[in-house]
Amino acid sequence: MKVAIIGAGVIGLGIGWRLAQRGIEVTLFERGAAGEGASYAAAGMLAAACETEPGEAALGVLNRASMQLWPDFAAELEHASGMSVGLRREGTLVIALNRDDGAKLRHDMAFQTSQGVSLEWLTPAEAREREPFLAPQLAGAMFSPGDIQVDNRAVVRALLEAFRRAGGVLRDTTTVNRVHGSNGRVAGVFVAHQLFEADIVVLAAGAWSGGVGLPVPCPSVRPIKGQMLAVQMDPSAPLLRHVVWAPRAYMVPRLDGRLIIGGTVEEKGFNSDITAGGVYALLDGAWRALPGIEELKIIETWVGFRPGSRDDAPILGASALPGLMFATGHHRNGILLTPITADAMASTIMAGKTDERITAFGADRFEQGRSVA
Ligand SMILES: Cc1cc2nc3c(=O)[nH]c(=O)nc-3n(C[C@H](O)[C@H](O)[C@H](O)COP(=O)(O)OP(=O)(O)OC[C@H]3O[C@@H](n4cnc5c(N)ncnc54)[C@H](O)[C@@H]3O)c2cc1C
Repeated sequence: MKVAIIGAGVIGLGIGWRLAQRGIEVTLFERGAAGEGASYAAAGMLAAACETEPGEAALGVLNRASMQLWPDFAAELEHASGMSVGLRREGTLVIALNRDDGAKLRHDMAFQTSQGVSLEWLTPAEAREREPFLAPQLAGAMFSPGDIQVDNRAVVRALLEAFRRAGGVLRDTTTVNRVHGSNGRVAGVFVAHQLFEADIVVLAAGAWSGGVGLPVPCPSVRPIKGQMLAVQMDPSAPLLRHVVWAPRAYMVPRLDGRLIIGGTVEEKGFNSDITAGGVYALLDGAWRALPGIEELKIIETWVGFRPGSRDDAPILGASALPGLMFATGHHRNGILLTPITADAMASTIMAGKTDERITAFGADRFEQGRSVA
């Protein structure tokens, strides 16, 4: 079997690695450099617990199932690539800065614990014991021990190395213009007017999935812009050790002292401007929670595009054209969902039958007027 994958973000690389491990001939097409899309822009939070929201029960189950896979996935990936992925297990603090925030947080926490998520309420003093530099007016915090982080840029590097070591081929700076169908099934992809033949084609082009010509309709995937920035802490005396979600910004401390502050959520198409309003909102949100950031140097600003489907859940599995598969629309949780997407898509391709973990996430749900709830 010959497989072509369009897009070398975490999703395309993860699926490619799992297939190459099983001895499948896999070629990954990437129009730029591997991992330079949303997978580069992300914060790397694995936030299955804190992301548990009413109305997203099926997605919550998928998120938590992927979360459980992450520690072993990270260990296997590090072993296969010889590279660290920067997994940190300190957990996440969601903080309230006033009584209103606190009431909302307790309300969210009641729902999340009802879903079996393990969370702990902390008084301001208890929260400051864990993070001494948090703002003095703290009203309380929720601690989620299960929500951890990886360095998503390191994950991309490791996935690429593991994919190559397993025998996969990356064709970077190579744009796929369209997918070719023949005799009622997929036949390959067109790259600069040349047909590359394949038995299976996987569309994993993230927010750009709608730009690839397909013989069958693909459910809409739109870009959801996120502006981000990073400040530099002293790695030997960092201002923060846990991931912190404040009411208007989140902060993710890396081992090398980088503190990532994110992220705006904007419907602006592929506009990649860093705006005064975006940077102001992030800095203001972070500063209210952690005033000490005022002294820190801004070392990077960037923009990324979350691939958003109509119901915010990923689109996984078969299309209307036999042999063409979708693995896109991972929105704000694509790093979290990498292990389960990679495993379930690879087993779906190998078995010719949709893996039961992803049956709720098929493209046909949109034609049938359903959404993932
Ligand atoms: C600001 C921001 C913060 C985020 N934070 C988190 C987080 O903390 N935790 C989390 O789990 N998720 C997070 N996400 C979401 C996560 O980054 C995405 O869901 C995930 O990276 C999607 O991966 P992907 O491989 O589908 O897409 P991408 O990484 O975008 O990869 C798609 C690739 O396809 C390539 N491509 C496109 N068109 C073509 C073509 N025609 N031919 C060849 N190649 C093509 C692109 O160049 C790109 O490299 C965040 C996203 C953003 C933007």
